[in-house]
Amino acid sequence: MNSIPLCIPNLAGNEIKYIQECIQSNFVSSIGPFVKRFEDEICKNTHAKYAVTTCSGTTALHVSLVALEVERDSLVIAPSFTFIASANAISHAGAQPWLFDVSNKDWCLDPDLLEEILSSETEQTEKGVIHKSSGKRVSAIMLVYTLGMPADMDKITSIAKKYNLPVISDAAAAIGSTYKNEPLGSIGASLSAFSFNGNKTITCGGGGVVFGNDRSLLEKVKHLCTTARVGQDYSHDMVGFNYRMTNVEAAIGCAQMEVLDKFMEKKRAIHNNYNNSFSKIDGITLFPESDLSQSSCWFSGIVLGKNYNIDFIRKKLRGKGIDSRPFWKPMHLQTMYKDCPKTSQHICESFWNRVLTLPCSTKLKDSEQEFVIKSLINIL
Ligand SMILES: *Cc1c(COP(=O)(O)O)cnc(C)c1O
Repeated sequence: MNSIPLCIPNLAGNEIKYIQECIQSNFVSSIGPFVKRFEDEICKNTHAKYAVTTCSGTTALHVSLVALEVERDSLVIAPSFTFIASANAISHAGAQPWLFDVSNKDWCLDPDLLEEILSSETEQTEKGVIHKSSGKRVSAIMLVYTLGMPADMDKITSIAKKYNLPVISDAAAAIGSTYKNEPLGSIGASLSAFSFNGNKTITCGGGGVVFGNDRSLLEKVKHLCTTARVGQDYSHDMVGFNYRMTNVEAAIGCAQMEVLDKFMEKKRAIHNNYNNSFSKIDGITLFPESDLSQSSCWFSGIVLGKNYNIDFIRKKLRGKGIDSRPFWKPMHLQTMYKDCPKTSQHICESFWNRVLTLPCSTKLKDSEQEFVIKSLINIL
């Protein structure tokens, strides 16, 4: 029986040709023309002035936090509802996440909650913003563009400004999305990161990128990713990383960028098809749509009503050869992060374990999606 995967790479363009160029020219490692070309493509797409590629989305987030001088033992505000990589990057930087609930509207950090909690639970001192109950300094706000949907940036960046906190965006799966019709490089984050893991809209095999408009900040990111080397010899001036993307990965990325618009259209069509098919099914709710943002529709799926058994439904779908998955388990429910400071989590706790993601590869055939929809409606 044919099986329908959740979300897999679609490598039908110039990928092979460009990889061959890497091998023929012997530029397979971290130096080579595709790296610069890919970074330029990211700038064009996001309207960011500068972009620095990395070896993953996680390392892109980690190096961003280090570049922003997030201090050891400080707190970084982050939504609890995210992929583990956002919280891990904060830990790798030596800080601790302060876990916030999300908004029902977009499943991203809730700006009203942010304002309320910052004003009631912190104080501004000459040392910066201090979290009163732990005595720790708050050093940054990390946003997550859930499912590829930008957070409410106008509200959040104005609060961040008031408290003088840098904003870094985990935009891992949000390539191509917009906020108030603006591309991601110009909506207020100091630094933003994409991932090019195999399950994202476009992939490099693995990889990531940091982008933003502050030249010296992005130069620092580049420096940190390149072992903080000074000159051509073995002199280094910081504890840096080897976080560079290779020319082979960037070659795949360049080929993928050529078809990004087509992939985006397909992702949105898949999303709309599911929404149209499930909007009238009793007890099913749809993934959020924001009137402020145009999501990249990275993942598609539904939210099951409380009476449904997600494991049973997944097993039935698997029996038909259809892959479906739950979605992120919030950070405050993970062993390593359960003792982090946190806000009440009633919004994310109200839905996270009822999310069912459905096949949404850009090469999903219309007939396959129809089969998924028909099968799932039957099971429901
Ligand atoms: C995919 C993803 C990441 C991690 O990216 P990697 O390239 O796998 O390290 C981080 N955050 C979010 C929200 C993601 O979806």
